[in-house]
Amino acid sequence: MVAPALATADVVVVGAGSAGCVAADRLSRDRSRTVLLLDAGPGTRPEDSQTSLARLPIEPGAPRVRRYPESRGRDVVRGAGLGGSSVVNGGYFLRGHRDDYATWPWPIDRIEAEFASLEQVMSVSAFADDELGTVATAFEAYWGRAAVTGRSPRAEDSAWPTVGLNRVRSNRRDGRRVTAADAFLTEAFLTETFLAADPAAPRPGLRVVGDCPVDELLVAGGRVTGVHTALGRVDAPAVVLAAGALGSAALLLPFLGPDLPVHEHAERLVRFAARRPVEAPALLQTVLHTADALEIRCYGDDFAAFINGVPASGIAVGVADMGAGTRGSITSAGVDLGVPDAESLRRIDGGVDLVREMLHAPELADLVVSGSVRVDENVGMSSHAWGTVPLGLGRDIDGLHVLDGAALPGPLRSGPHASVMAMAGLIAAEIS
Ligand SMILES: Cc1cc2nc3c(=O)[nH]c(=O)nc-3n(C[C@H](O)[C@H](O)[C@H](O)COP(=O)(O)OP(=O)(O)OC[C@H]3O[C@@H](n4cnc5c(N)ncnc54)[C@H](O)[C@@H]3O)c2cc1C
Repeated sequence: MVAPALATADVVVVGAGSAGCVAADRLSRDRSRTVLLLDAGPGTRPEDSQTSLARLPIEPGAPRVRRYPESRGRDVVRGAGLGGSSVVNGGYFLRGHRDDYATWPWPIDRIEAEFASLEQVMSVSAFADDELGTVATAFEAYWGRAAVTGRSPRAEDSAWPTVGLNRVRSNRRDGRRVTAADAFLTEAFLTETFLAADPAAPRPGLRVVGDCPVDELLVAGGRVTGVHTALGRVDAPAVVLAAGALGSAALLLPFLGPDLPVHEHAERLVRFAARRPVEAPALLQTVLHTADALEIRCYGDDFAAFINGVPASGIAVGVADMGAGTRGSITSAGVDLGVPDAESLRRIDGGVDLVREMLHAPELADLVVSGSVRVDENVGMSSHAWGTVPLGLGRDIDGLHVLDGAALPGPLRSGPHASVMAMAGLIAAEIS
């Protein structure tokens, strides 16, 4: 027997992460529409101590994190609660390359306008020269002269990354991440339960409820009718899935299964010991994009300096394949992020050779302890899982919209955060 509905809404948004906050904001601008935004994690805003750009609050036991079991035993971390992964991520907020959006169903001018407005709301700016940490300064000195990529000097002030050096643009204010909740839920009415919203609130139709995992999508006769949650049933003629690439896929498996794809950016780390203390105001301040779709990531320090409980293992430079990505799968048994194929590994290892050369170059001679360079044997992942329900999939269920990292339709040559949020805005604007 189905439990009686505890609430109704015109639209339920499942997941208050990067995409869900954008969607809730866009949909609740219409004051006559009731929007219920539900998240499995805490319904509170993060503490200031959790949003410093110089830390990643993802250690085991961290309060705003969910770990998904992965069949190859890898640590798959996602943010949970208001702001979702935007609360715990690296604060790197780059667009993809302009031509990465050729597969998106909107004209590039529309996409560009969405990015421009998003970047303003998220307080995005490039790190300035005098903000660069020790390793980032040496990295740019090397790649600024090396003609390895055929286009070494950084494209000053361009919002579109290109092949070559790209100074990281970051969503930040006073050394802290500006989270999706900071930017888009400023006027939200936060409630513990499904209470009626305050009619005097700036967004009278928007209610936000935390600690409320959705465990089932309700569909009847090819139409979505609501969701079932830990607190009871919610009836709604429209449901927006924004539970993240893994969370949204889990809810869709009963309808689109038995398995759904998932992609990741495989990354190999090269590590070295430093001859002197390094300063690192943020995890990632500069990256090199190569013509063969690698992103060479200049991490500012040892990961142990950013994440509590991680053993010290040397300052890291990452070589990530930003091409098609790995092809893993999600089933009711769990997540498998897949592994890079032989061609991807060959390119990654070509990038590793470039990094070795850099670490032995004169620009880094006073920084790198001689003989300390080591390459990780295992290839890791970038916490970028995407494309489990690419745009279009699931469209045959009336009233259902998927607009988070699950919906990304193809590879991006930069990290996904900015693109996920822009896509959420573009899709939400089309929901009538
Ligand atoms: C540690 C880490 C570092 C990263 N660093 C960067 C970076 O620096 N730059 C970059 O570009 N990208 C980065 N990423 C990736 C980027 O943050 C994500 O791609 C993006 O935030 C995904 O947004 P989303 O809305 O799809 O999901 P999320 O922001 O993860 O939001 C999903 C939300 O749904 C909720 N949820 C899940 N299941 C349910 C359910 N059943 N019911 C209710 N709620 C549910 C979750 O609690 C969560 O709040 C990083 C990711 C991580 C985890």
